[in-house]
Amino acid sequence: MSTSLLALTYALDAPVDTLRNVGQASARRLAKLDIHTVRDLLLTLPYGWESFRSVEIAELAREGPASVVGTVVSIRSMVTRFKKMRLTEASVTDPSGGRLRVVWFNDRFVLKNLHGGDRVALAGTVKLGPGGRPEMANPTYERLGGEAAAPKRVSEHMPKYHLVDGLTSRQIASWVESALPYAARLDDVLPPDIRKSHHLLDVADAVRQGHKPENDGEYAKARLRMAFAELFELQAAFAMTRARIAAEPATPIPYRQEVIDAFKAGVGFELTRAQRKATWDAFKDMQGPVPMNRLLNGDVGSGKTAVAAACAAMAHAAGMQTVVMAPTEILARQHLAKFRAYLEASFPGLTVELLVSGLGAAERRRVRTATASGHCALVVGTHALIEDDVEFLNLGLAIVDEQHRFGTRQRELLRGKGRGRPHFLAMTATPIPRTLALALYGEMSLSVLDEMPPGRLPVETEVIDPDHRDRAYGLVRAEVAAGHQAFVICPLIEESELVVARSAVAEFERLQKDVFPAPIRLGLIHGRLKEKDEVMQRFATGEIQVLVATAVVEVGVDVPNATVMMIEGADRFGLAQLHQFRGRVGRGSAGSRCLLLADDPSSQSLARLELVERTRDGFMLAEEDLRLRGMGELLGPRQHGMSDVAMDALHQPELLNEVREAAEQVVREDSDLEHHPALKAAVIRRLELTSIS
Ligand code: ADP
Ligand code: MG
Repeated sequence: MSTSLLALTYALDAPVDTLRNVGQASARRLAKLDIHTVRDLLLTLPYGWESFRSVEIAELAREGPASVVGTVVSIRSMVTRFKKMRLTEASVTDPSGGRLRVVWFNDRFVLKNLHGGDRVALAGTVKLGPGGRPEMANPTYERLGGEAAAPKRVSEHMPKYHLVDGLTSRQIASWVESALPYAARLDDVLPPDIRKSHHLLDVADAVRQGHKPENDGEYAKARLRMAFAELFELQAAFAMTRARIAAEPATPIPYRQEVIDAFKAGVGFELTRAQRKATWDAFKDMQGPVPMNRLLNGDVGSGKTAVAAACAAMAHAAGMQTVVMAPTEILARQHLAKFRAYLEASFPGLTVELLVSGLGAAERRRVRTATASGHCALVVGTHALIEDDVEFLNLGLAIVDEQHRFGTRQRELLRGKGRGRPHFLAMTATPIPRTLALALYGEMSLSVLDEMPPGRLPVETEVIDPDHRDRAYGLVRAEVAAGHQAFVICPLIEESELVVARSAVAEFERLQKDVFPAPIRLGLIHGRLKEKDEVMQRFATGEIQVLVATAVVEVGVDVPNATVMMIEGADRFGLAQLHQFRGRVGRGSAGSRCLLLADDPSSQSLARLELVERTRDGFMLAEEDLRLRGMGELLGPRQHGMSDVAMDALHQPELLNEVREAAEQVVREDSDLEHHPALKAAVIRRLELTSIS
């Protein structure tokens, strides 16, 4: 290879700031978008395009995207009274005689860059204000030199990239421009025959057309190709993982009817049809010599713990131990209580123990010894379980609750406690539609608890007009006066955790002072708080009556005495997430309420919220989230490790099936991907990066 070619190949894996026009600060911002190398930059397509008709200001009579060139008549900055935002306001004219009002929010630089008398090019979305006067908020702008100068950066077509603070789509477009010469060096992960049979572009063309399409058709073809390739990589990674797991034998756990009979007699309720089905799925897996690798997906309160307990009983009958890991100490303690209640009466020899870091040294030693000697059949705990000094005599089954809260390494460490590979059961309360589960957790088999135990009182859900917030507060006070407890969820602010924490603190102080004064006992929990577990514990014991919380409260803690869930800024949350909040109440015998307050009570956001009012089906709400706002909504940004291009493609389940088949065939024929080096490299990158176990 000649030196220059070598340099080009190397350049793909080089950090983005090796590009001449990318500085270190920009590189740090790009890193937040998971763009680290030149390759990442090229492979991250814009999520959309905007075409700005170029028009004269006097013609701006309808709303929508437009670009204009004009002269700044006046420009000034101020701080808004209500939300304390910095606002820069300008007035722009052109020879047509029209006048355009322009505002920028929180942009400190506009006032430095633009002055009265400057010629400027603007591209943005026109809204018609009072009297039909045109306005643009946060347009892209470019100061133009002389009278004849044409805009260089503000053009009629603008790509839209995902951004973080301090970045603009325009900047990214210019960096992409300087990276595009390297596109020809990208290795294609898609084998040529698959590309051909599915009519897909090769990677270099897809990158060029995806960033700079001539028309919508080109853009769509580029996206389809990128989505296909990404899903293909993932599915190939799953296929390899499955093959690897299958090659590591597990000890079979034989099915025994008398065990399930004893379990049913002792558990204290009739299992639902869905619980029986899921239990049976797991028993079938555990009987075999290939380790079970199953995801149990069931709404909050659907009874996942009973399924886990039945599996633990079966493992115990085969002489094997079970470990259950939960994300917090309080959850681990609640599991401990449930497992004991379900199992200890019917299985006197099945000792259940707790292992969390909060234990005293003597207790910890006792549990460790019981675990290592095999005396204890089931250990429930937190991260403390994966520490070096915790050993099992004969671990046959590992269970993880709220599995998305753990990293791959933590799950692997837990599984590593077995002598062979233990069977594995992951549980999650996030309702994941089937397509998404296949795309994200394709290496696992799936059981779904789509049915609630009988006898639960529905949580009465109501959308409340923000003007009637006082009524909501009144309902909270009334429940507290009746001896119950309440949650107040703060709005989701899409900024750093620090900002979220600060605003939660402010809301807490306001509520304490003006709304729920002493003797009402208020508590606060947010992601930055070290003592999250302690606060939850104080809420669980009733010491805290009203818990002000950010989204961290989602995890499945059981507080049966809590009867009100009041959610501020409900329109900002996904429907499935609102449903999860709602699941935090209605766990006891008293009737419960969920109160939804919208920040933006537009008819569209109210219609979404009314769906939560009408349905109790978490999967249905999750499907609706997908339809309305895309997959990212369900799992939170970036948790899924999948680009929005790939996410969008999941709207076509048949595409995913095609990809799966293609990937499985490649792995079947070339199990180590010896003949597919580019795919192999991509799969290895993925296995390192994502949650694939
Ligand atoms: P989750 O799926 O959220 O983990 P749990 O396992 O905590 O749900 O179960 C929620 C509650 O429902 C528990 O109090 C549990 O004892 C009860 N429960 C579970 N299954 C049944 C059933 N089949 N019939 C009645 N109650 C049940
Ligand atoms: Mg649970």
